[in-house]
Amino acid sequence: MSDCIFCKIVAGEIPSAKVYENEHVVAFLDISQVTKGHTLIIPKVHKENIFELDEETARHVFEAVPAISRALKAEFQPDGLNTINNNGEIAGQTVFHYHMHLIPRYGQGDGLG
Ligand code: 5GP
Ligand code: ZN
Repeated sequence: MSDCIFCKIVAGEIPSAKVYENEHVVAFLDISQVTKGHTLIIPKVHKENIFELDEETARHVFEAVPAISRALKAEFQPDGLNTINNNGEIAGQTVFHYHMHLIPRYGQGDGLG
């Protein structure tokens, strides 16, 4: 999709701080991190959200989650981590290319509830 910001990140047309990449997915730091190390994992193919996600693409995304989580744990040493995925405007989705948020959590003081 030519007007999709995440497709542009996949294509290298706009810069991102990449955390991980393989044939099927790329993970990069969120431009507006809610905590240190806030990362997004996206499939390289354009799928709007979970309602459009085929099982193979879902597998590619989910298979990458543990290794990326461990890499974030090693790098930023959080005490925990949330995985969050918003689907549809009403659910808080603002970029309409499927993505999973990995949000490291830090003790009592990370500002999130
Ligand atoms: P959503 O609200 O759709 O679940 O999450 C979209 C996320 O994408 C937001 O957390 C937002 O900060 C992030 N984001 C939007 N545009 C860009 C961008 O150009 N680069 C990066 N790295 N993150 C972006
Ligand atoms: Zn896209």
